[in-house]
Amino acid sequence: MAELKSTDVVLDVTEYDRDDGDVIVKCPHCQRILGLQSGPFKGGQFQHRVCGGWLGVSHDARRVKFFESE
Ligand SMILES: [Zn+2]
Repeated sequence: MAELKSTDVVLDVTEYDRDDGDVIVKCPHCQRILGLQSGPFKGGQFQHRVCGGWLGVSHDARRVKFFESE
């Protein structure tokens, strides 16, 4: 079986939220929250600097609430 670093695999992200106007997603590799660079993000690929994992935001990603606000 070929050895492929798991962080090299681009995992799909289907949910996002906004925090002060910034798009945030959950890293599918390490489950931490990361902010994406501004601009179009759907369909884009990003690398999480903390874990080095790659993720691709789905074209039909939907907004969810990551944090419950009372
Ligand atoms: Zn990560």
